[in-house]
Amino acid sequence: MSELYGGVETGGTWCVCAVGRGPGEMVARDQFRTGTPQETLEQIAGFFAGAPPLKAVGIGAFGPLDLVADSPTWGHVTTTPKPGWKHVGIGPALRERLGVPVAIELDVTAAAVGEQRWGAGRGVGSLCYLTVGTGIGAGLLIEGAPWHGLVHPEVGHMRVPHDRVHDPFDGCCPVHGDCWEGLASGPAIAARWDTAPQDLPDDHPAWALEADYIAAGILNIVLVVSPERFIVGGGVLEHPGMLGLVRNRVVELLGGYLDTPFLRADGIGSFLVPPALGDDAGVLGAIALAQSLDTAGM
Ligand code: ZN
Repeated sequence: MSELYGGVETGGTWCVCAVGRGPGEMVARDQFRTGTPQETLEQIAGFFAGAPPLKAVGIGAFGPLDLVADSPTWGHVTTTPKPGWKHVGIGPALRERLGVPVAIELDVTAAAVGEQRWGAGRGVGSLCYLTVGTGIGAGLLIEGAPWHGLVHPEVGHMRVPHDRVHDPFDGCCPVHGDCWEGLASGPAIAARWDTAPQDLPDDHPAWALEADYIAAGILNIVLVVSPERFIVGGGVLEHPGMLGLVRNRVVELLGGYLDTPFLRADGIGSFLVPPALGDDAGVLGAIALAQSLDTAGM
């Protein structure tokens, strides 16, 4: 039997653990509610204690994270508003408990890695994986590698045009108010219309406004990063018709400025695409991260 790798995705609500080598080659998988750091780390360690020996473990975690390799706080959650999780050293804690090499990236970056390896991003070097749900986040892979830069991208908090006459909602980001996430996340839709997004009818003006905001942010990322493919997921984007509205609006906002078939009406369907790995993108990406760590000889 060839070697096995562990993957962990710590989400805001759920924590998913798996052992395997890729899709269809998972030998164990479990998920539980994300609790306090102590409870959650215990549960993760308990899951792997019952698993076969592993070569390495990858983690996709909610952030912000310290990803600087030689930092004394590498692998720590930094400034999260999630109660109890500020400054928790999830990477070092699991490396110590499991006794194997550990790779850590943001959950969205792990999902980007998973989609590139096995899903909707196969064969593409530079891609963006965007999720719009409880929050807005994106993982960027540049020429095959996760992009960190100074800290790591936090696209959810960029600014997008906000016409307060057309949309007087102040936004719901606790830090910035009307940043992209503050205007366009699931909680923003719920707060603006005082209705859970799933209860808004398909012809409600909420959806066209939402498509405008999502498209504005996507266009900004396209213009700055120039990804070769743009994978979009999350609960809001899974709303029937939303992806089509967003594709149309991106093309409209770009106004034909860039001469590539992928950004025209008849080609954007193969550029702006849904994920292929579903809910397992993050944990599969974490396994891929563990494999690349092993390949790197660490
Ligand atoms: Zn914000």
